[in-house]
Amino acid sequence: MFKKGSKLYSIFTGCCPKCHEESMFINKNPYILSQALDMHDTCSNCGTKYKIEPSFFYGSMYVSYAVGIAFAVAAFVISFFVFNAGIDTVFISIVGTLIICMPIILRLSRNIWINFFMSYDKSLAKK
Ligand SMILES: [Zn+2]
Repeated sequence: MFKKGSKLYSIFTGCCPKCHEESMFINKNPYILSQALDMHDTCSNCGTKYKIEPSFFYGSMYVSYAVGIAFAVAAFVISFFVFNAGIDTVFISIVGTLIICMPIILRLSRNIWINFFMSYDKSLAKK
């Protein structure tokens, strides 16, 4: 499922959506907050331009809403059903999860967004 060539591979590793050979992000660590969203302009392997049009990644805001909900539901399920926490604690755990995971959510939504528009192309991968 996570093999090279599947969209999930590109989404979870943040690599180029066309050749899956290198990371789109300049710094691999999303928690270096000043560089969390710094991306290369083009892929050095296949030359794909990541920003298809100006402000392309604004669209990933729609995706980040869905991804944020997924994280919030996960936090709810874990704290409410696994730890049997009270409603206050559940609320704090959801807010905490969203804040702590924000860099990951932002990057994941960018990866999902760009994968809506580009697909893996075997001929562009390194031989
Ligand atoms: Zn590429």
